[in-house]
Amino acid sequence: MDILDLTAIQLGEKIKKKELTALEATEAALRQISSNESTYHCYVTVDEEKALRRAGQVQEEIEAGRATGPLAGVPVAVKDNICTKGMRTTCSSRILGDFVPTYTASAAEALEGAGAIILGKTNMDEFAMGSTTETSYYGVTKNPWNTEHVPGGSSGGSCAAVAAREAFCALGSDTGGSIRQPSSFCGVTGLKPTYGTVSRYGLIAYGSSLDQIGPVAKDVADCAALLEVLTVYDPKDSTSVRREETDFTSALTGDVKGMRIGIPRDHMGEGLDPQIRASVEQAAKALEEQGAVVEEFDLSLVEYAIPAYYVIASAEASSNLSRFDGVKYGYRTEEYEGLHNMYKKTRSEGFGEEVKRRIMLGSFVLSSGYYDAYYLKALRTKALIKEAFDRAFEKYDVILGPTAPSTAPKLGESLKDPLKMYLGDIYTVSVNLAGLPAMSVPYGIDEQNLPIGVQFIGGSFQEKAVIRAGYALEQTREWHMPGSKKGGR
Ligand code: GLN
Repeated sequence: MDILDLTAIQLGEKIKKKELTALEATEAALRQISSNESTYHCYVTVDEEKALRRAGQVQEEIEAGRATGPLAGVPVAVKDNICTKGMRTTCSSRILGDFVPTYTASAAEALEGAGAIILGKTNMDEFAMGSTTETSYYGVTKNPWNTEHVPGGSSGGSCAAVAAREAFCALGSDTGGSIRQPSSFCGVTGLKPTYGTVSRYGLIAYGSSLDQIGPVAKDVADCAALLEVLTVYDPKDSTSVRREETDFTSALTGDVKGMRIGIPRDHMGEGLDPQIRASVEQAAKALEEQGAVVEEFDLSLVEYAIPAYYVIASAEASSNLSRFDGVKYGYRTEEYEGLHNMYKKTRSEGFGEEVKRRIMLGSFVLSSGYYDAYYLKALRTKALIKEAFDRAFEKYDVILGPTAPSTAPKLGESLKDPLKMYLGDIYTVSVNLAGLPAMSVPYGIDEQNLPIGVQFIGGSFQEKAVIRAGYALEQTREWHMPGSKKGGR
């Protein structure tokens, strides 16, 4: 078997059993990167030298019995909005083009602490704003299933890297769907944890009350193992939660007998590609056959999720991005007259169109005359959405539905109509507004041979229910990675 076909856990086991070394795995991933990057462009930065050096060190740690976890020796990719000491971190923006952090984000530190080897930083929509990875200043990433299509976004680079076998697993971030939607477009598995589970320290902020880092992997077991490593209470993040039960891999039982699963009718209606609807229905049937109890229900308020999300996320973004002023770090315009002109020119040249759109929208909804009409109303809507989910979780252990209304669109189509693009986030953003855990699991391929993802949503801190259902479903699917046809791996 090709090393690159292994999941992260399988690779870790082989390294532990001395059938492979961390260096061999890293070299294999780097070879795959150098032969495929000119096609897919998953990474903004690849640091070969550092990765190889670290692989040697990790191998020594493993041999000395000091690195014993399931991810020891596994090469991984990290989204380019997660700070890495000494490794350029751009957020795919011109304004951070030469930014080399002096510290490592807690989540990346946790991964390294578990013996993972960071290969490089993956491409994304600029500042994580977008759904296609096309707003990156460093060029588009292509979907490994079909290079005429986008990989989704904003964690498109991380998801494409895992699908193209250019990393065994990756970190993404999810503010309104950015782990789950590109996972569904790239046929990989991505999990957004409950807000507060993974430290945001060192994650360059987009919408701070919504942002969460999470795993992107080939399967559910890898996601669970990664989440175990990432779940660390961190006093450096004031919203970090001390979680009690973090043995997420114990939920990989395959047993869903008696599990109550709800399908929101409002996630299955208008605007949903019928092929995706069919996949969700098949998934429901597969779970029912294993003893789960599935029924439809009305979640309500679904139509308010997108406006509330875009108001809140943009408001927070406009404030978070005010730090990029050309003074402290990052890009500064070359010629200017006086301080104000320097700010203006730096930000005009340093940010792309989508980011500017969000800053303007955010500043508008926060401005004194409009605060109550937009921002406050959005916060109230957020609270009502959370209540609607709470009511649903009195009846159900998990919610099942589509991850996105369509499969991956063609490159160049989405940015023409930003409002339409925003509507593509309909099934994912409410989960962030309510702070819940959710996972996209590949289930089905459409007529264009593009992957379809289904989404499991859990109640607060109920990652285990999500993992249990996702893992059980995964056992019933037949295909796996790009290039594999329906019916075979
Ligand atoms: N597409 C959404 C947005 O543009 C979500 C992005 C994200 O989760 N980072 O805001």
